[in-house]
Amino acid sequence: MQILDGKALAKKIELKVTNGVKVLKEKTGRVPGLAVVLVGHDPASQAYVGMKKKACDRAGFYSVTHEMPEDISQETIENTITMMNNNPSLDGILIQLPLPAQIDTTKLLELVAPNKDVDGFHPFNVGRLTTGLDGFVPCTPLGVMELLKEYSIDVKGKNAVVVGASNIVGKPMASLLLNADATVEICHIFTDDLKKHTLNADIVLVGVGVINLIKEDMVKEGAIIIDIGINRAESGKLVGDVDFDGVSKKCSYITPVPGGVGPMTIAMLLSNTLKAAKENTK
Ligand code: NAD
Repeated sequence: MQILDGKALAKKIELKVTNGVKVLKEKTGRVPGLAVVLVGHDPASQAYVGMKKKACDRAGFYSVTHEMPEDISQETIENTITMMNNNPSLDGILIQLPLPAQIDTTKLLELVAPNKDVDGFHPFNVGRLTTGLDGFVPCTPLGVMELLKEYSIDVKGKNAVVVGASNIVGKPMASLLLNADATVEICHIFTDDLKKHTLNADIVLVGVGVINLIKEDMVKEGAIIIDIGINRAESGKLVGDVDFDGVSKKCSYITPVPGGVGPMTIAMLLSNTLKAAKENTK
């Protein structure tokens, strides 16, 4: 069994992005700019935004966080996004999810200019991904594909089972795997007999948010396991959706939590924002 070390690869990618920023600055006199919209005081969202901000600083980006109160109006956020769309110093706009109940999230995601949509959540970029065209791809599944590439794991012809079907993890993950010629199944909360599906998988990719959802008896010998889940255990430790101790005895490759997919997500955000900056300064 081999660990897929996302932390190490994320460092390598960050270094590449940092060099890319220097080249861009020499050529154009500007650095990539990323704006984050953070609404309310959700501790997990605050922690993620803090990590993203630190990564931007390390890479030499210009970054700004717009913190807004929990009871903010739809109109105020929309005006802020419109302002960001028109700000030439900004290449990427990121709306930290989830948003409070009074906010129409879909409307906001559709308002972000597609060429600044570094999270890849705008239907324009979702459409480009599903048709196999270049665009912005959501950072977490993109990071998983980079991790597989780093370890020379070719998914072509493999049975891939994606567990979790959200717009930000499961669905784009499935599109990327399909674009790479895997045979893809998507399972979700209403899937009958999850084990029947995962046992047939050469590669299991799980992003659900349920501790120990995938156990040793649910995976076949030699399977590749990608754990996208991030959960806080009762002990306070961060854990994924896979029972690591049991499953790691059986599989060929596995991502740990922490240190697997998580760091890759932030690395791909940097990479997407540099890509946007290069395209916006052409
Ligand atoms: P979500 O709540 O939007 O979606 C969860 C999905 O899991 C849904 O499709 C649901 O049908 C499915 N599901 C729920 N319970 C299930 C069950 N018992 N069996 C099978 N499927 C089930 O969540 P999300 O935003 O997609 O996040 C999923 C997980 O991934 C969370 O743990 C989140 O913290 C993590 N995540 C990690 C990263 C990262 O960088 N590693 C990034 C984003 C999300």
